[in-house]
Amino acid sequence: MIVMKFGGSSVANRAQIEKVMAIVASHRERSPVVVLSAHKGITDALIDAARAAAGGADSGERVIARQTEIATSLDCSPELLSPLFAEIRDLLRGIRLVKELSARSLDYISSFGERMSVRCIADFFAREGLPALGFDAWDLGFITDSNFGRARPTAGFDARMREGLKSKVPSGMVPVVTGFVGMNEAGEITTVGRNGSDLTASLIGAAVRADEVQIWSDTDGVMSADPSVVPAARSIPTMRFDEAAELAYFGSRVLHPSTLLPAMTSDIPVRVMNTNRPSHPGTVITGTTDPNAPEVTSIAYKERQAVLHLTSTRMFEQVGFMAEVFATLARHHVDVDMISTSEVSVSVSSYNVRALEAAMAELSALGECELHRGKTILSIVGQHLARTRGIGGRILQCIADAGVNVEMMTFGIGSINFTVVIDDADIAKVVPVLHGRLFEV
Ligand code: ASP
Ligand code: MG
Repeated sequence: MIVMKFGGSSVANRAQIEKVMAIVASHRERSPVVVLSAHKGITDALIDAARAAAGGADSGERVIARQTEIATSLDCSPELLSPLFAEIRDLLRGIRLVKELSARSLDYISSFGERMSVRCIADFFAREGLPALGFDAWDLGFITDSNFGRARPTAGFDARMREGLKSKVPSGMVPVVTGFVGMNEAGEITTVGRNGSDLTASLIGAAVRADEVQIWSDTDGVMSADPSVVPAARSIPTMRFDEAAELAYFGSRVLHPSTLLPAMTSDIPVRVMNTNRPSHPGTVITGTTDPNAPEVTSIAYKERQAVLHLTSTRMFEQVGFMAEVFATLARHHVDVDMISTSEVSVSVSSYNVRALEAAMAELSALGECELHRGKTILSIVGQHLARTRGIGGRILQCIADAGVNVEMMTFGIGSINFTVVIDDADIAKVVPVLHGRLFEV
């Protein structure tokens, strides 16, 4: 069995959906479970409609019209989606009346994108000769906790999912399952978080012990850098889970950061493929170390970060000072990414500027604090960085030659990422130089 997940751009319109069908059909002998996103833009449009409704505006018809257009282009009968359209209208009317949008309602409204896309697409596949059946993931066992906006399956998920697929999918049928959404024990709809269909796919893959989880997107696998910044960026043939996780977290939009966890735990390969070029082998992500992997795999970055710098003479020869600093950060829910420290100072970075500001008020009791905004974390990733003599020097020389100043830096023992902080404004100067010298030689 394999899991094949197709993202929003892969199911954006009939032309794309036809490509998806050909790809699924070509993998039929591997018993695919297909996981789908909403058609491109639909989730955003639903959320916009809900926000407008909370402000009192009447707003659902635009997204219903968009969905209708796609369904019509697939020759689906109008009855197929009419119950869901009625539910959307009811829900938006409710939101308009109470003028508030709770996390629960937000998940509920967001769920319609996937629920509509699996119905239309399974229906289209079946009429075009690929026997398929659409499912809301919860009907197959995707029952979650009640953390709306970041729900996760509850205990017993693996067995439920295996049983669901076995008992509810007639043999020879391809199940076409909603990504992103779930349901709690009380029957309320949840979501695993924005762009979460990748995660749904890897959770299902781990549950059914799939041979492979395929993430179909619109690039030739995972790229060595953002192709919109570096036209010479190239596809990475193989990566290790930890490298890909680093990369997903620091900027690559191809994979959702939490996707790899379930696959990593169950040791299931994740293959990232291009719907527009299925003949390209894409990127395979596994737990295996490749002795011949290049010294650098990719360059990723995350902009709009903040760095808090704390200087204190109390740190010197003290035990427990850091514990105090981090306890304070934890109390303020600061999600720390980078840490760099000396005997008298410590710098920490986070995307959550507000939480850092709140923590800073308290940290001032421990020493002098400064907050720097508008920073980019730039990460150079590679499984063999630690054994590659001189790589740090080369990276720093590239940054210097680009005329850019390094403001903070980390590299741990055996590390697979060499990470620096620079100004947001400098990122476009640095990345092409680094890519040119590290990859295009
Ligand atoms: N449709 C959802 C979103 O736009 C989930 C996904 O596409 O992965 O966030
Ligand atoms: Mg995506």
